Amino acid sequence: MKITVSTIPDAGLEREVSYDRDWLIEMLPGRDTMPFMIEMVSVRCRASKLGTTVSLSLRVATNLQLECCRCLKEFILPVDSEFNYMLLRAEKMPKGEEIELTGEDLGLDYYRDDTIDVDPMIIEQIVLQIPLKPMCAESCKGLCPQCGIDLNTETCDHRSNDGKENPFAVLKNLHIDKNK
Ligand SMILES: [Zn+2]
Ligand SMILES: [Zn+2]
Repeated sequence: MKITVSTIPDAGLEREVSYDRDWLIEMLPGRDTMPFMIEMVSVRCRASKLGTTVSLSLRVATNLQLECCRCLKEFILPVDSEFNYMLLRAEKMPKGEEIELTGEDLGLDYYRDDTIDVDPMIIEQIVLQIPLKPMCAESCKGLCPQCGIDLNTETCDHRSNDGKENPFAVLKNLHIDKNK
């Protein structure tokens, strides 16, 4: 989706689009190692301008398909978030004012040639939603480090050796001679 800044009416504009999996694959380089997938993304975009500065609000809703970092199973993470951007015309890039304008919820960016390309922002917001350690559930037990079975659905005898995995367990056998 591209927005031509000079065509944004005084009252602002609103657009709704949806993208499919092919769009994502096209947008992301290094697709072989993509850590997530989607079926569909719904985007609502609102833009208004003050002079040449454009205020953009993006609402991104999708179901992220992620791999659980513990049990390696695929799971769905629903995402529905709204983000705001402030876009300045590149020719008018301020010097030293950037820090002042950049807040936590305010992404400061620039556009050129009267055009705002919204797609990279959508990708950016999707990627920001991916947890550092994606988990199918808080309580996911993961895989047995010894035999590799899924401990959410199966059990094995290795769990009874829990004490050995505790790095402090070894301290129990440590004899400290204070007189030395
Ligand atoms: Zn899991
Ligand atoms: Zn096991």
